[in-house]
Amino acid sequence: MSGFDVVVLGAGAAGLFCAGVAGQRGLRVLLIDHSARVAEKIRISGGGRCNFTNVQADRPECFIGAQPGFARHALRAYRPAEFIGLVRRHGIGYHEKHRGQLFCDDSSERIVGLLTHEAESGGVAWRSPCAIGSVAALPPDERDGARFEIAAEGGAVRARSLVVATGGLSIPKIGATDLGYRLARQFGHRIVEPRPALVPLTFEASQWQPWVPLAGVSLEVAIRAPAHAEAPVFTEDLLFTHRGLSGPAVLQISSFWRPGEPLAIDLAPGHGADELVAWLTQRREQSRQQLATTLAERLPKRLVALWLEQLAVQVPRLRPEARLAELGNRDLQALGDALRRWTVQPSGSEGFRKAEVTVGGVATDELDPRTLASRRQPGLHFIGEVVDVTGWLGGYNFQWAWSSGFAAAQGLAAAARR
Ligand SMILES: Cc1cc2nc3c(=O)[nH]c(=O)nc-3n(C[C@H](O)[C@H](O)[C@H](O)COP(=O)(O)OP(=O)(O)OC[C@H]3O[C@@H](n4cnc5c(N)ncnc54)[C@H](O)[C@@H]3O)c2cc1C
Repeated sequence: MSGFDVVVLGAGAAGLFCAGVAGQRGLRVLLIDHSARVAEKIRISGGGRCNFTNVQADRPECFIGAQPGFARHALRAYRPAEFIGLVRRHGIGYHEKHRGQLFCDDSSERIVGLLTHEAESGGVAWRSPCAIGSVAALPPDERDGARFEIAAEGGAVRARSLVVATGGLSIPKIGATDLGYRLARQFGHRIVEPRPALVPLTFEASQWQPWVPLAGVSLEVAIRAPAHAEAPVFTEDLLFTHRGLSGPAVLQISSFWRPGEPLAIDLAPGHGADELVAWLTQRREQSRQQLATTLAERLPKRLVALWLEQLAVQVPRLRPEARLAELGNRDLQALGDALRRWTVQPSGSEGFRKAEVTVGGVATDELDPRTLASRRQPGLHFIGEVVDVTGWLGGYNFQWAWSSGFAAAQGLAAAARR
C-alpha cells in the first residue's frame, strides 16, 4: 500500500494550493478528486475571468461564520498581496474592477494553470477522477507512522495527515458533495447548518407577478437584513429577474437572510431623508410634472411606474400620474420614506443549484485557527469552503481558500519537522 505524508481530498482552490505549498516544503503529498476536470469552480468563477482575490480580503469583518474573527490568523499568515505576487510571478495579467476586486485579464484558466504548476513543482501526486470510499483513523499499533487509511479507487492509501478540502454544497452538477461534512461528523466535529449563499432570492409566483415585467432592470440600492443586526448595509446594484431579485446587492445580503425574513431596500442610496424631501420639494416648486416623470430622473422609468402603482394601493395620493404640485409636504415626506424603506419579503432562494457559496460548515471552535487542524483528531485538517467561514462577494472566498490552504500546509510542514 502506498504511503504519503499528506493526502488532500478535493483538488479545488484550497486543496490544490495547499498541496502545492506542502509539497514545496518537502512533504510527500497525494491529491485526490472525484472529478475528471478539477478546479471547475475556478474556471467558471468571475464570469470566466476569476476574481482571484480582493485587495481588502485580509479584513476579517468581510467573512461570515459563527466565530467572528476566526479567519484572522490565516488571512494574516497569507495575505492578498502574497497571492498577487504569485500571480505576477506567473506572468498573469490582471485588473481591478470594483472595490478592490482583482480579475484575470484573459481567462480563469490561467489561475488553474498557476495552481497545477505550483503543485507539480512540489512533486504532488494525483488521482483524478478517483472515487473516495471510507476514511479510517488507524489504531496506534497498526500505524507505521500513518494515522489514516483512505479507501479510494486504484487502491487504499495511508497518510500521516489528512486535509479535507472538498468544498461546500453549491453547484452539485460540477461535483459538489457533502463528503467533507460526513468526514467531519465521523471524527466528532459539529456542523453549522449549511445554507446556500451569494444566491438570487425568489418570491411566490403570485406575489412576484406584478414585478415580472421589470426582469432585466438594474439600479444601485442600499440593502439590509433588519433581522440581523450584525449584517452590514450593502450599497451595490440590484437586478430584477423573472422569479425575484438578484445582482450583487441581493447576493451579498442573501448570506445573512433566512427564509421568511424581510429585506429593507433604500432606492435612493447616498441621499439623506431630508435631502430627498428637499429635492422633491424643489421639483414641486419648479414644475407641474407628474410624480412618475420626476422620479424617473433618479430611478429606472419602468421601475418607477410599477413601484408607484404598488405604493398607491396604500397611499392613493402618491399615484404615478399625480401632479407633484398637488402634493403637500406630508405626501412628499411619505414618498421619501417609502423610497428609502422599500420592504420586500422573499420566500426562498435559487438554492445550491445557483448559489456561489455555502455558509455554515465545519464548526470553527473545534479547529486551530493557525493551522486549521482538528482539535479532536490529530493530523486532520479542514480548509476552504467546507469550513464555517464564508466571504463576501468579490474575491474574498478565493482568498480564504488560499489563506486557509497555506496555513494548513505550514502547520503540516512544521509538524513534520518536530
Ligand atoms: C459560479 C461561481 C462563481 C464564483 N466566483 C468566485 C469569484 O470570482 N471569486 C471568489 O472569491 N469566489 C468565487 N466563487 C466561490 C469559490 O469558487 C469557492 O469559494 C472556492 O472554489 C472554494 O474552494 P474549495 O477548494 O474550498 O472548494 P472547491 O473549489 O469547490 O473544490 C472542492 C473540490 O472537491 C471535490 N470534491 C467534492 N466532493 C468530493 C468527493 N466526494 N470526492 C472527491 N472529491 C470531491 C470537487 O470535485 C472539487 O474539485 C464562485 C463560485 C461559483 C459557484
